[in-house]
Amino acid sequence: MSEKFSATLRIGDLNDYIAPSQGCVIKSENGGKAKTAPKALQTEPVKISLKDCLACSGCITSAETVMLEKQSLGEFLSNLNKGKAVIVSLSPQSRASLSVHFGLSPIQVFRKLTTLFKSMGVKAIFDTSSSRDLTLVESCNEFIARYRQSNSTDDEKLKSSLPMISSACPGWICYAEKTLGSYILPYISSVKSPQQTIGAAIKNHLCQKLYLRPEDIYHVTVMPCYDKKLEAARDDFVFQVDSDSERITEVDSVLTTGEVLDLIQSRSVDFPALEESPVDKLLSNVDEEGNLYGVRGSSGGYADTIFRHAAKVLFDKEIDGPLEFKTIRNADFQEVTLEVQGKVVLRFAQCYGFRNLRNIVMKIKSGKCEYQFLEIMACPSGCLNGGGQIKPRPGQSAKDLIQLLETAYSENVLVADPFENPRIKRLYNEWLGEPGSEKAKRHLHTEYHPVVKSISSQLQNW
Ligand code: SF4
Repeated sequence: MSEKFSATLRIGDLNDYIAPSQGCVIKSENGGKAKTAPKALQTEPVKISLKDCLACSGCITSAETVMLEKQSLGEFLSNLNKGKAVIVSLSPQSRASLSVHFGLSPIQVFRKLTTLFKSMGVKAIFDTSSSRDLTLVESCNEFIARYRQSNSTDDEKLKSSLPMISSACPGWICYAEKTLGSYILPYISSVKSPQQTIGAAIKNHLCQKLYLRPEDIYHVTVMPCYDKKLEAARDDFVFQVDSDSERITEVDSVLTTGEVLDLIQSRSVDFPALEESPVDKLLSNVDEEGNLYGVRGSSGGYADTIFRHAAKVLFDKEIDGPLEFKTIRNADFQEVTLEVQGKVVLRFAQCYGFRNLRNIVMKIKSGKCEYQFLEIMACPSGCLNGGGQIKPRPGQSAKDLIQLLETAYSENVLVADPFENPRIKRLYNEWLGEPGSEKAKRHLHTEYHPVVKSISSQLQNW
């Protein structure tokens, strides 16, 4: 499998097979008897899309992965002229990567990308920091409900609603569904990732403000990893307005940061010299003075935000300033605790990279996990280090690049509470009602599915 996918997808028994893996072989319905296909059918090519991918690497070999990666940029370009309104949603990690590469500030990158994409016919460019705030508000609400359920019963089954595990990383979700199976899935937050919540908001609600039908929008995201392409292709993220209407995809295409750089270079654009256009504020975390704002934490700030919210709601403790995360085993495993009257009442952890991830899931399985919330990310160092980010320059170490990215990520970005975000308040007022409402559950939450492997597939992996 291409090295561009997260390490977790690559390490989890994923070899680069040329033949379809046994996990993909579906039993025929005629009791296994060979059936001769009619001649006309024999010549029809079989189509396999990303939706069919189990991330098992059985059928997506390196060469085919490269093809899919290319197809994505080509597909984006070809959709610019198909009469649909193209909307781009930019992740803050991609913004930071381009910012370091070109020596610009994050807001300059946002404004210049707005110029570039609009010159190509894109209708609007939004920022997924805003939908991340929506994801965080729903996640805070879910955590409080799980905590209360866990503490109000002696029933071991109901108590197992904790730890709650973040769900924004598709590398982790794929690994959990495919390799860990059903014991881990109930712990994973049901809230969709920021990529999917912005897709849901655009195609279910904002389209009306733009006087568009959802099927007339082609929505593209710019993300730090290839794993996000697998996420966008999940059947769970397709909906219908009516039972007989067209199936609508929340995110039609995903470009990685590197692919956006390819686009800039292939058009010989002098990016630093581009004019800066005003950004589209409808769904972007930009205030009236033009400042970017968002939560702390370059991988989404899940542990940070939910910890503060839980301290306030459950223990009446308002925490100002940065949280004190303590390094436990290595820089990619850190914890934060809240003590009340000498007793630890909250214990959260950030756990990045496959090694840490594997250790913590073993603890959950054996009932020895002492955390109430885990922010799990497949990539070491988190999302700034995603496989789709711009690579280090010759002679530059990955560690040096991460440090530059961390600085650029928060450069001139005001720290702000997602609950006070006016864009998010408006989405609840106009569309969703309140956090955790039926409507919020329908549009912003999802389900996970254990991948049942065939016996022959399991034998093959022994
Ligand atoms: S940690 Fe972030 S960049 Fe890496 S696979 Fe997960 S979502 Fe993508």
